[in-house]
Amino acid sequence: MGYGRFDREKSQQTRHAPRAMKRAVFLDRDGVVIQQWEGKYLDDPEGVELLPGAAEAIRRLREAGFLVVMVTNQAGIGHGHLAEDTLGEIHARLQELLSRKGTKLDGIYYCPHTPEDVCPCRKPAPGMLLRAAEELGIDLSRSYMVGDMTTDIEAGKRAGCFSILVRTGFGGSDGRSDSEPDAVCDDLPSAVDFILKREALGDR
Ligand SMILES: [Mg+2]
Ligand SMILES: [Zn+2]
Repeated sequence: MGYGRFDREKSQQTRHAPRAMKRAVFLDRDGVVIQQWEGKYLDDPEGVELLPGAAEAIRRLREAGFLVVMVTNQAGIGHGHLAEDTLGEIHARLQELLSRKGTKLDGIYYCPHTPEDVCPCRKPAPGMLLRAAEELGIDLSRSYMVGDMTTDIEAGKRAGCFSILVRTGFGGSDGRSDSEPDAVCDDLPSAVDFILKREALGDR
């Protein structure tokens, strides 16, 4: 009888034990994973075009044990220029293109708000990264943020991640934030080279 009680307590303890924390690489979308859209908002799934080497880069990160999570501002929704369903189709198209190359994104988070909404998720606020960390069990202090805008860098730093600016897309020329990246790389493939090398050196 005493045993039964012991076992029950033990199983409850196991159930409430914290999950092993995962590590992630957060990626901005436009100018990092896919081609920067020429118009104001990408509103057509056929317009999704992977940047050179992006799929392979994502595959390498996942093979190294990272979750790869995309975090994208989508004010077009808040402004009424982009339907949430269409955004879903665009992201389904992106996942399809990645799956053809043997990989995928482990999560996609978007902020549908406009700057005037002053929400906690629009980058440079760190809300999308914090939410992903909560939902996916991510250790932010051992994770990375890769982006082409200074607002991506600020969001990554505010979430406690190591931040990497890439020279594709805006290449940091947006001038919206004073945040300095922890590293600068040519593009996503070189950012992944950098991350995997840094990991191998145990420099974290
Ligand atoms: Mg971008
Ligand atoms: Zn938001």
